[in-house]
Amino acid sequence: MCIFCKIASGEIPAELLHSDDQVLAFRDLAPQAPTHILIIPRVHCENVDELAEQHPQTLSRIFLVAAQLAKSEGLSGHRTVFNTGESAGQSVFHAHLHLLGGRPLAWPPG
Ligand code: 5GP
Ligand code: ZN
Repeated sequence: MCIFCKIASGEIPAELLHSDDQVLAFRDLAPQAPTHILIIPRVHCENVDELAEQHPQTLSRIFLVAAQLAKSEGLSGHRTVFNTGESAGQSVFHAHLHLLGGRPLAWPPG
């Protein structure tokens, strides 16, 4: 089982900020901003491309939860990112949306 499937099943602990039948959200272990939350589908998909094709409603729900969390965290602006593939910085191959905020975010990203 992959590490995020283990978090979804409760086998590995995480600080859960949201949990429903499709989606859960927890704080990143190595935060890159004052707010750095990961929002993941319960279903195992390798990346967002697979998720979009196989579970579009879950993908939509992920963005809805991100918007709710951005509000509850009191963010004045935020960035949502899916890294897809090793060359784009993906290191965990279970789709996850990064929600970042709480500091100025430069553009373009590295
Ligand atoms: P990626 O590099 O794949 O886009 O993002 C993976 C993220 O998962 C990284 O930001 C990393 O810090 C985070 N991460 C990896 N393992 C764990 C874990 O066991 N718990 C939590 N909360 N975050 C993790
Ligand atoms: Zn998984």
